[in-house]
Amino acid sequence: MTIRFTPELIGSCTGRPPAGCRYCDRGSKMVLYITGVCTEDCYYCPLSEEKKGKDVIFANERRLPNEDWEMGALSEARMMSALGTGITGGDPLVVAERTVQAIKSLKEAFGRKHHIHLYTSSAFSRGRLYELAAAGLDEIRFHPPIRTWSDFHRDSPEGEAGKFAELFSSAKELGLSAGIEVPAVPDEPSAFGLRAIVDHAIRNRMDFVNINELEASHTNAARFNDRGFTLVGDSMAVEGSRELAEDVIGSAVRAHPGSRTVLHFCSSVYKDAVQLRNRLKRTARNVKKPYELITQDGTLLRGVLVTSDPYSMALRLGEEYGIPPELMEASGSMVLLAPWVLEAISNDLEEECYISEVYPTSDGLEVERIPL
Ligand code: SF4
Repeated sequence: MTIRFTPELIGSCTGRPPAGCRYCDRGSKMVLYITGVCTEDCYYCPLSEEKKGKDVIFANERRLPNEDWEMGALSEARMMSALGTGITGGDPLVVAERTVQAIKSLKEAFGRKHHIHLYTSSAFSRGRLYELAAAGLDEIRFHPPIRTWSDFHRDSPEGEAGKFAELFSSAKELGLSAGIEVPAVPDEPSAFGLRAIVDHAIRNRMDFVNINELEASHTNAARFNDRGFTLVGDSMAVEGSRELAEDVIGSAVRAHPGSRTVLHFCSSVYKDAVQLRNRLKRTARNVKKPYELITQDGTLLRGVLVTSDPYSMALRLGEEYGIPPELMEASGSMVLLAPWVLEAISNDLEEECYISEVYPTSDGLEVERIPL
């Protein structure tokens, strides 16, 4: 039998994982940050400083120019052979027309099967929802603001929660896969709200609820500190978040044994160790040069020789050591070489030589440098 998802994903879901999660699990989904602007100001917002509150667009780690973002997004999707895209923000509905355009462009370029899911924190109009569905959106993940969660405990939520409840059912009527995605915030009022929202989703036959492990970041650390949150070991996961999510899921399963709403706990470790690693590996296979090696983590290893005249140095290496041209490349003030070749000859050379481990992303961020 073909294994389509990792055991980590299967083990953290109460049923068949939501389609958006299945693509992320395989690392085949591009993340499109369509804007950093959002009308909310959640204290746990993990957005980085370069994105938060700014109308900037990123496809994976690549910043796209605002005036030509469509071409950039399509090129990034090609670079990783993306099978789908997760559109996020900020709140994508703050730039609703851009979001609709992104869905149309991606579907036109990659076909109907390119799976698109969208996160949003606004209770917008049904007309807007119709536009998103007509553009080709496959799945919608609502993130109602935390102040509304406890209002979902009523049979017919009112106010802002009521608007979300109407949108949930409209999304289902339009044939979208529809779910809720919220973090597990380990304090009493939020725990009550989380139970209310999960119960509401089950009673209203939503497709899924994704509960994320609460994570600290540079931008939310001070606010976490003020609330007395502590971290698990040397990770960024907040103590008590996993336990709360598991308890809420366990209670919901016992209370609604026949429910078809899939409950999924998405841990901080899983996001890094499975989703990100698989996406990097997928991109690495596409961008790897003959002189680079792909690591288990999806990063690339290459040898680097620093020189003021890389073209003459590459010629010399070819003549003296018989290194074939495809195993080296002059670049800036260095010659990039196959790491196994550089290791074999570095003792003969006076120039600075090292092995560089880089991300296979557009910024090529260096993770580690090992001097030779
Ligand atoms: S809704 Fe999302 S993007 Fe907006 S502030 Fe909250 S966590 Fe951040």
